Formats: sequence, C-alpha cells, structure tokens
Amino acid sequence: MSDLTPDDRLKQGFWRSQVPWSGHRRRSPTLDGVTTVGVLALQGDVREHLAALSDCGVHAAAVRRPTELAQVDALVLPGGESTTMSRLLETFELLEPVRARIADGMPAYGSCAGMILLAREVLDGRPDQRQLGGLDVVVRRNAFGRQVDSFERDLAIAGLGEPAYRAVFIRAPWAEETGPGVEVLATEPGTGRIVAVRQGPALATAFHPELTGDLRVHKLFVDMVRDRI
Ligand code: GLN
Repeated sequence: MSDLTPDDRLKQGFWRSQVPWSGHRRRSPTLDGVTTVGVLALQGDVREHLAALSDCGVHAAAVRRPTELAQVDALVLPGGESTTMSRLLETFELLEPVRARIADGMPAYGSCAGMILLAREVLDGRPDQRQLGGLDVVVRRNAFGRQVDSFERDLAIAGLGEPAYRAVFIRAPWAEETGPGVEVLATEPGTGRIVAVRQGPALATAFHPELTGDLRVHKLFVDMVRDRI
C-alpha cells in the first residue's frame, strides 16, 4: 500500500473509516488498540482540544452524554467558564458519571476552567459551583486580577524540555494550595504562583495549550493515557 505509518493513518481517520465498530459503542475502550480521548463538549474551546488531540495521533471524540463518556479512555475538560460547565454537567446528567470515572482512575486533563473543575476546592467561585475532584488542589478563580484579563508568558514546564513554553492565560486561576500527592509542573514567573500540576492520572494547566499550536502539553497527557491503558 502506501508508505504511511499507522500514526499517519490515524491522523487521516483511516482506521475510523475501515473498522466495522467505528461509531458504535465498543466493549472496552482499549480493545482495538486505538486510544480514544474525549473532550467534554458542553461549553468552551472544545474544537481546539479535539484538533490538538488528533494532531497527537489519538482518536478524539466530543463527550456530551454518559454513553459517549463510556467510550473514552480519558477526558479533557476545556477552557471556557467553569460555572457554566458546572451547571451544564448537571443538566446533561454528566456530573456524577464524570466524577465516578475520575474517582476510578480515568486520566483527565483540565485547561483553565477545566483546572477549576478538577480542583478539590475553588476560591472566588460561585456557591453552587460543583467540583469533579481528581486534584488535591485549592484554586483561586480569576486569580491574576480583572485588570489583566489575558497575557502571555514563557514558562519552564517540568518534563517538557526546551524551548520555554509560550503560555496563554485568559482570566486564569492559580493553585493556592496543593496536597502532598500533587506535583508542581510550572509556576508563573511574575507572581511565583502555581499554574501547572499533576497528580497521578490528573493533569491541569491554568493556561490554554489548545490555543497555541505547541502540542507538548497534549502529548504529555496522551503519554499519561497510554501509560495507563
Ligand atoms: N475564569 C474562567 C472560569 O472561572 C476560566 C477562564 C478560562 O477558561 N479561560 O471558569
């Protein structure tokens, strides 16, 4: 046939169009050897995460209902508005199923609003805002202040090597407290605040790697998912 690698074929959707179970619920997310990473698709920059994950060579799928959640090996919680996503998680009856999968060890990655959702506790949140758990972290919403809504910074992120990571922050949180099991991956140089963390299968960044085209954070997450399954 052609000289395409399996990864190239994946990126082109080759496997999806060839295999008979495509589009159906699979018995086990891992049976076919194709890693499927879901993106919670209730609100926020879903498309950008789906594109970044596809570029990393995994099958990326939007998750809006519990049946779709059951088909993924891992879940990305996008940037957007955590209070809105929290409300929609309840409306779409996804709050408890996502909590249960995370408690069961499903790898999860949250960017910005997603980091807020994964945190144990939120400061400056809405009183009715709900948490998914996964990270023993206390975050402060909109922590960098209203006057600096968005900014870019070069970050040194543990494990990602050189060059520095150009990070985009938009009404970003920071982690104010971290539990003993939490690994700090990056701090924002201006404030010294924690902006990237990992705890076992949970990863979170206060910034938005999905907006910049630098795939290193998504690749880190995909490696975490593949190590797990
Ligand atoms: N401030 C938003 C929130 O509270 C997060 C912003 C973002 O995701 N860019 O959810």
